[in-house]
Amino acid sequence: MEKKQFKAESKRLLDMMIHSVYSNREIFLRELISNASDAIDKIYYKALTDESLTFDKDRYYIKIIPNKENRTLTVLDTGIGMTEEELEHNLGTIAKSGSLAFKQQNEMKDGHDIIGQFGVGFYSAFMVADEVTVRSKALGSGKAFEWVSQGADGYTIKPCDKTDVGTEIILKLKENTEDENFDDYLEEHRLKAIIKKYSDFIRYPIKMTVTEMKPKEGSDNEFEEVKEEQVINSMVPIWRKNKSELKQEDYENFYREKRYGFDKPLKHIHIQVDGTIRYNAILFIPETIPFDYYTKEYEKGLELYSNGVLIMEKCPDLLPDYFSFVKGMVDSEDLSLNISREMLQQDRQLKVIAKNIKNKIKKELENLLKHDRAKYETFYRSFGRQLKFGVYNEFGQDKDVLQDLLMFYSSKEKKWVTLDEYVSRMPEDQQYIYYATGETHERIDKLPQTELIAEKGYEILYFTEDVDEFAIKMLKSYKDKEFKSVASGDLGIEEDDNETAETEAKENKALFDYMKEVLSGKVKDVRASKRLKTHPVCFSTEGEVSIEMEKVLNAMPN
Ligand code: ADP
Ligand code: MG
Repeated sequence: MEKKQFKAESKRLLDMMIHSVYSNREIFLRELISNASDAIDKIYYKALTDESLTFDKDRYYIKIIPNKENRTLTVLDTGIGMTEEELEHNLGTIAKSGSLAFKQQNEMKDGHDIIGQFGVGFYSAFMVADEVTVRSKALGSGKAFEWVSQGADGYTIKPCDKTDVGTEIILKLKENTEDENFDDYLEEHRLKAIIKKYSDFIRYPIKMTVTEMKPKEGSDNEFEEVKEEQVINSMVPIWRKNKSELKQEDYENFYREKRYGFDKPLKHIHIQVDGTIRYNAILFIPETIPFDYYTKEYEKGLELYSNGVLIMEKCPDLLPDYFSFVKGMVDSEDLSLNISREMLQQDRQLKVIAKNIKNKIKKELENLLKHDRAKYETFYRSFGRQLKFGVYNEFGQDKDVLQDLLMFYSSKEKKWVTLDEYVSRMPEDQQYIYYATGETHERIDKLPQTELIAEKGYEILYFTEDVDEFAIKMLKSYKDKEFKSVASGDLGIEEDDNETAETEAKENKALFDYMKEVLSGKVKDVRASKRLKTHPVCFSTEGEVSIEMEKVLNAMPN
């Protein structure tokens, strides 16, 4: 039999496919299953437009058959199959997508979302197999054909026996090497895990015979091995279900199944957008800080699906750093993926989705703050610091997103308050939002600098975290009210008693000069102060950098 050669470019491409397009071998199964699903979709689509065809859902499935004796792995489907010409065209020419052509010929409308479009996925089989056999019988054709290839040196096609319409892809696995154990792909648990990971939401059942230990009949403590065909994938993704059908519990189960965290999520956000860019997302705000959250090891990101197929486990571009604690997934039909599906071709769509998600998270947090204060405070205790870092790191750029989510402890209320609450309580003559920095609330309570402001009846925000004052410097103001440290030189509080102050300063000039001399190099000036009430002396600062900020800056590694 004549062996046909792949087209020259195809040869090079095949080599590239096998060696560099995919970073991860296990995705070959995702690609073959996606093709099988596309093939069933095509029958489904034909049935919609062809009255002589009916689509009986039970007859369509995908089956994974590992065979340890022969070291083969078979992916079988009951889809539309391929004719001899189609085998030649679609598998003989790399980067030829029969699925893309099908989509175009049939002018498929929304909702018929065939996965394939690049015409390379099939070849990922050669990452794990020495030889690939495709046996296929096309819908409406009396004959079946077999395509066999050992990779770059070409392929053969001949007639074969196959009664049912559909395709069988048989992979002869490569010999094990020191680095890689290809036998792994014959193990039920491994196959199950790969299917679950990438193909859990394929619309058709993915079946596999699974060996399980079950109690022997009539016995409580004796077990026997039972082989049983199971459907491995869950098929309908929870994010495609109607929100009204879902209970709190369903989201919590999903959170656990996905191992987003070991805690219970504090809140879930289910987004279903049907606009210019369509996507579904389920996001979670965890209740507790992940153990590695404030370390370099922590990776932010959401799972990214294209049409129910996992593309990226942690897509960082979907979340701003200040919301890096958010867990969850996004599924969109509208992403243009690059050839390996492991990256996006362009990020315009992603940017739109990311912006959308950012605003949703913000809104949900604001709602939480408004309607469930206690829960919000739990959240804020865990992740408030990240929000403040956000204000600082973005140079106040996303001020609008973040400023209303911030909270600080209040001298007056003795609890956490928002900036909005602070400003709305300000007496008319108060010009600034006052804050005091220190290690603890108790310590700040005792600061001499706070006395005059407290006496005036003004509220003071307590800053106990390093990042607080830095963040506030980026914000500059809130609702046109500037922030002012109680330690700054000019507090903006008018004192009518200017004369006494001046005389005091004159009378004590000798004392102040002497003090300055003693403290030379440690302080810039010694002055009479109007802000002290019961304390004899306090420090104050001039300019942008406060004493507390200086401490933080000095502690930073160079
Ligand atoms: P893509 O899926 O991006 O089109 P692939 O390399 O994965 O590219 O597959 C190439 C083509 O081979 C598909 O477009 C399809 O026409 C055909 N094909 C592959 N697998 C099957 C299958 N199981 N049943 C029917 N056709 C298939
Ligand atoms: Mg494909």
